[in-house]
Amino acid sequence: MRAILLPEHGAADKLVYTTDQPIPQPKAHEVRIRVRAAALNRLDIWVRDGWPGIKLPLPHILGADAAGDIDALGSEVNSWAVGDRVVIDPQLSCGVCEFCRAGQQNLCETGGITGEHSSGTYAEYITISARNLLKLPDSVSYADAAGAALVYLTAWHSLISKANVRSGQSVLIVGAGGGVNSASIQIAKLAGARVYVVGSSTAKLDEARRLGADELIDRSAEDWIKAIYKRTNKQGVDIVVDNVGKDTLFGSVRSVKRGGKILIVGNTSGPMAEVDLRYIFSKHISIIGSTMAPHSDFVTVMQLVFAGKLTPSIGARFPLEQAAEAQRAMEAGSVFGKIVLDV
Ligand code: ZN
Repeated sequence: MRAILLPEHGAADKLVYTTDQPIPQPKAHEVRIRVRAAALNRLDIWVRDGWPGIKLPLPHILGADAAGDIDALGSEVNSWAVGDRVVIDPQLSCGVCEFCRAGQQNLCETGGITGEHSSGTYAEYITISARNLLKLPDSVSYADAAGAALVYLTAWHSLISKANVRSGQSVLIVGAGGGVNSASIQIAKLAGARVYVVGSSTAKLDEARRLGADELIDRSAEDWIKAIYKRTNKQGVDIVVDNVGKDTLFGSVRSVKRGGKILIVGNTSGPMAEVDLRYIFSKHISIIGSTMAPHSDFVTVMQLVFAGKLTPSIGARFPLEQAAEAQRAMEAGSVFGKIVLDV
């Protein structure tokens, strides 16, 4: 089959397009999917670069998100049929641990993410547990479904399930252009919140407005912390979504209202941040971390995508063989919204 292999960790030029990778065979509770679209995530870059102590059998296939058609069934799978259009939940889980039994698959003791802890979706065929499948209506494209899954389930779980955002609240999203941030803008608007976005360029902020953001702050033109202070009548916002991390956490702590919440689901500027703890307790700030989502949140948010209430922002599409170019575009930050590989 065709696939993109990572023979060793490093930059995008390590990626190798191959046409003779063996087609995987589904285990008893798995299906094989003929992938039609895969989507890029920042996670792919981290796994590709590697980190000290990473233990990943090489060559590896990257990619968390995919949509396609069921191509073969494991011996124990009887609720699906060959030819069914599906999108995958990229949250891998054991199905039997304490957390899985409570429906908290993203806390699974041996869980993981497709393409990080298993062979990924930059490939013509993948195998995955039938538990991870969701039927894709004919009206929804493979590209939209693949582009939606990981970022929407992540944003939904943090904003709705963990922070309980409500109508009338204010939500600040630090950074415009990333997939999770774009999804967070739409989900916060759907919940009825007033959405503030801090971005680094007019073009990215224009896109944020198109997605529904109410207040745009260009950090290249003004001090965004002061801007939030002024635009919220010196109150700050109820919820800050900060997936930038090291460079912005101080600003997020300053910008959140007394009793407010800061959500962290990523750290694009680096993992080690310094926080003045006096702000945390004196302002009664809750810092809430989460990653991925329970399967029930995946189903809920994808139904909203299928119903057209949430529309994935697809910024660029590349054929599978140009995965390296696609990753370079992501790293350059030149694309607003999701980058999809057509397989
Ligand atoms: Zn488990």
